[in-house]
Amino acid sequence: MSSDVQHDYDAIIIGGGPNGLIAASYLARAGAHVLLLERRIETGGGLNTDEYFGFRFNLHAVYHLMADVMPAYKDLDLPNYGLRYVVPPYGAAFLLPDNRSLIFSNDATATAEEIAKFSSYDADCYMNMWNDFQPMLEQYLIPLTYELPMPPLEQLELMEQNEAGQEMARISEMSFVDILDDYGFENTHVRMALLSFPAMWGLDLNEPLGFLYPLYLCRMLNAALVKGGSHRMSSAIYRSFVHAGGIVRDACPASSLIVEDGTVVGVKTVAGDTFRAPLVISTLNPEQTFIDLLGEEHLDDSLRSAVSGWEWEQRSLFGLHLGIRGDLSYKLQDTRVDNALVAFMGLSTEEDLHSHLAAVDSGESDHAGWIHVTVPTKFDPTQASDGYNTVRIESVAPYSSPWTEITPTYAESCLNLLREYADLEDVIVQRTCTPVDIEQRLTTMKRGSIKHGAYTPLQLGYFRPNDLCSQIETPVPGLLVAGASVYPGGMILGGPGYLGAKVALELLGI
Ligand SMILES: Cc1cc2nc3c(=O)[nH]c(=O)nc-3n(C[C@H](O)[C@H](O)[C@H](O)COP(=O)(O)OP(=O)(O)OC[C@H]3O[C@@H](n4cnc5c(N)ncnc54)[C@H](O)[C@@H]3O)c2cc1C
Repeated sequence: MSSDVQHDYDAIIIGGGPNGLIAASYLARAGAHVLLLERRIETGGGLNTDEYFGFRFNLHAVYHLMADVMPAYKDLDLPNYGLRYVVPPYGAAFLLPDNRSLIFSNDATATAEEIAKFSSYDADCYMNMWNDFQPMLEQYLIPLTYELPMPPLEQLELMEQNEAGQEMARISEMSFVDILDDYGFENTHVRMALLSFPAMWGLDLNEPLGFLYPLYLCRMLNAALVKGGSHRMSSAIYRSFVHAGGIVRDACPASSLIVEDGTVVGVKTVAGDTFRAPLVISTLNPEQTFIDLLGEEHLDDSLRSAVSGWEWEQRSLFGLHLGIRGDLSYKLQDTRVDNALVAFMGLSTEEDLHSHLAAVDSGESDHAGWIHVTVPTKFDPTQASDGYNTVRIESVAPYSSPWTEITPTYAESCLNLLREYADLEDVIVQRTCTPVDIEQRLTTMKRGSIKHGAYTPLQLGYFRPNDLCSQIETPVPGLLVAGASVYPGGMILGGPGYLGAKVALELLGI
């Protein structure tokens, strides 16, 4: 660290989303003097809750897959700052057009019994797969989410050391479809359901991303909601940060990084203020960090080519948020579906799912053929007044559709599809959130890319965002990266922010 320059702070964090807040709070609680800059009028990023006439709508993140295993929860004392999770009894329910349903929970035996209604053979396959996945999660996938990534060969060597690792190495090269084939699943409805877990996040079912499958299936079946709305989580981290002496400047976008002798020494804001620190941690996407803020003139050829090759997600999300009078209840005989965190509807078979995703990828999707629906107030009544409920309808959708023209009809198609499966009383408030709205609200999510960039084999693990920056430090001294575009990636994992703080504390010698 240079000592002859006057610094205002030990570290400056750019971006007050979950990762920026987590990094900031760890640093401040360890004794560092930290400034956090946020572009919007409030911190939270994807942890957003807006209140409309008494209904709280979580326009972005709502399912918290790592709630119980995220180190920040305990380390930052978040329960003490107001964070409470609610875990619904069933993780997912699939509602089929013929009135049958398939309910998944974290009780594998109960889920296998559900699957047995469709195929007893597939029920056995599910038990085998589930049992294989548990040691992979406990020994590798969860702990490694909070450790710096290893180069692929080192990672393979580590995994060769025991059976769970060998099994994980084996499925790592497979696609989600290959994994189902490998375990022998035959029933098309069961396969549709199992593939929906990665598909709902826009992942390509045919890319070799198999190592993600245990996470997307098993962690979704443990997913929690934040009591009071997702923004409560960001408020809790914010409070822990400010309590530790951290400074937040919201409505204060960073406009450029200050570079002296090839080293980043501070940040300039749009308002014209300058702040200096020996470390600047950006949680923005690679284009914003390296091109907009740093400037291409400071990139060497390898970093320039890594940044210019960054790919956005091909699929985004369309959200329709409803405030309703009365309850939403599904028209199925099995009333347990009412208590599922997420209910999927619109598709019946695996073929339906593949054709639906192909239509999304063609960019011509002008109506919702597949929706997943959550009624947050069913599990947390604090998000609406007594006698009222909120309903969140989401659909995997292309960015490129002409959203200004088709939003009303697309929303109507979501509502019509839901009404085929559910009795819905008066809809009082409706709020849409298109892929273009996502990008406008959170500039980090360019092209509606909810994870700040595609999940492809070359943009994951040691290669996220590229092999020069996945260890948090970048080739530019003084500049660290720790947002969703960095290992372990997007969603509310709290991984990049945690690792960002860890590396920053080592560099600061705190
Ligand atoms: C519709 C939708 C649904 C989602 N659902 C889920 C879900 O259910 N579960 C889940 O786990 N994840 C979900 N996600 C993904 C999740 O929200 C993101 O992956 C996560 O928020 C990324 O966190 P982050 O801190 O890295 O970045 P962000 O949340 O993008 O935060 C970055 C912050 O930087 C700020 N910023 C931008 N430019 C500047 C600047 N120049 N100066 C200062 N600040 C700046 C932004 O305003 C923002 O607050 C969803 C996302 C969307 C859009």
